[in-house]
Amino acid sequence: MKATLTRNNHSVTVPTGIWMGTQCIGASSGQQFPVVDPATEEVLAHVANAGSAEWMKALDLADGVATTWAAFADRKRSEILTALFHKLTQRADDFARVMSFEMGKPFAEAQGEVAYGAEYFRWFAEEAVRSAGRVNSAPAGTGTIVVTREPVGPVLAITPWNFPLAMATRKIAPALAAGCPIVVKPAAETPLTMLLLGEVIAEVFSEFNVPSGVVSIIPTTGAKDLSQELMADARLKKVTFTGSTPVGKTLVRQSADNLQRSSMELGGNAPFVIDEDADLDLVLTCAMQAKMRNGGEACIAANRFIVHEAIAEEFTTRLTHRMSEVRTGHGLDEGTTLGPIITAKQRDAIAELVDDALACGAQLTVGGKKPEGDGFFYPATVLVNVPAQARILHEEIFGPVATVTTFTCLDDAIARANDTEFGLAAYGFTENIHTAQKLAKELKAGMVGINRGAISDPAAPFGGIKQSGFGREGGTEGIEEYQSIKYIALQ
Ligand code: NAD
Repeated sequence: MKATLTRNNHSVTVPTGIWMGTQCIGASSGQQFPVVDPATEEVLAHVANAGSAEWMKALDLADGVATTWAAFADRKRSEILTALFHKLTQRADDFARVMSFEMGKPFAEAQGEVAYGAEYFRWFAEEAVRSAGRVNSAPAGTGTIVVTREPVGPVLAITPWNFPLAMATRKIAPALAAGCPIVVKPAAETPLTMLLLGEVIAEVFSEFNVPSGVVSIIPTTGAKDLSQELMADARLKKVTFTGSTPVGKTLVRQSADNLQRSSMELGGNAPFVIDEDADLDLVLTCAMQAKMRNGGEACIAANRFIVHEAIAEEFTTRLTHRMSEVRTGHGLDEGTTLGPIITAKQRDAIAELVDDALACGAQLTVGGKKPEGDGFFYPATVLVNVPAQARILHEEIFGPVATVTTFTCLDDAIARANDTEFGLAAYGFTENIHTAQKLAKELKAGMVGINRGAISDPAAPFGGIKQSGFGREGGTEGIEEYQSIKYIALQ
């Protein structure tokens, strides 16, 4: 069960079955679903469409190996994670190519995602042998308090299409480091990257004699049924999700019956506040990173540029110039710096937000027009003088559209930055240390970049507050999401 994807004389072959542990199998129903190249609208491959029989079998396997996997020495699990880091890195271009095909991102960006995604294996290989408890004497002199950490047990991971590799490795790596088996459900738009990872995992697990079932990868179009059935089973101990806030809320509700642990990485609506003393060269570089990384299809993408009136004109002129240099095309074609949007539906949602802003009185300085022809493309777009009531200031854009509004008083800028139901990322720019401290303290988000446009780091805790969810991925905090705390009272 394989498919070969080819463009510009480069090919990559990917598995198209279900990874039931280390076995790649077809769906018992015989059903498949198509995976489409969003730049051409052509079908890239047909993938096995898992149903109830498959995902319940994956949970049976995970539950069956949970004790054995938890008993693997920490050092052994660390070595396995290190091997995964190296194998993935060796095949970096294959992974990058698959992501450019199925998700659309430019090849160079896809290579960046492979490096970033692989790094979670290396980081958690190091954490696997460092995760510790504590010991202290009871203050009343009644004995000793010993605190240990244990793996929570079988995990379900549901991942989105925007970062098909990294959003999964940041869940798989800490789960494995903690000693948990994991069932992964990739987004139906982009299952191929995960299925290729399944091949790498099967090779490494065979070298280290890891029992089949520690990782299963379940492609399906039946996400709703999968989560309902798996979470109704008390053997599943945790769900970890990256995606939209409404689906996150559904999963939290579903987790109530069995009180499953949950981590939710949900939507964002990041503000990017630029004070009048900011270094505009740095601001422009960071603005392009924060807005255009992944074509704006990122939960930490800067949506709202809130700029001091004194520099707003220069900033807008320079941002418009940089956005007009962006070249749209197939992710695997030379010179492409902006790929397509993932689906026609998602592209239309972006166009609708832009049209609504224009109807409210905003003006375009570049872009804003859906191109003719194949592929779900939308151009790099800048909107200025966006009125407060425009939907685009309140909803996640998830595309290459920047909005610019101005301020004269920093407190007002911060209040507007925080005037959102989301609280994932926020950015602040200034050369003044006091303003920097104020922005760091008062911007209400799980992550704040000060004079930084790229903030993701496997060594840092990624996550949000408010409607952006809870739980952290990466950092020393990331492994704790997969551990239960046990207190032992010693005489
Ligand atoms: P989504 O939340 O619908 O899908 C994310 C994942 O959840 C996919 O694997 C999907 O198959 C699965 N899913 C969907 N419905 C489910 C259900 N009822 N039960 C269990 N799993 C389910 O997101 P989307 O449709 O891909 O994108 C829509 C919006 O979500 C975007 O516009 C963006 O706002 C947001 N989003 C956020 C992130 C992020 O990184 N936080 C990533 C992708 C999308």
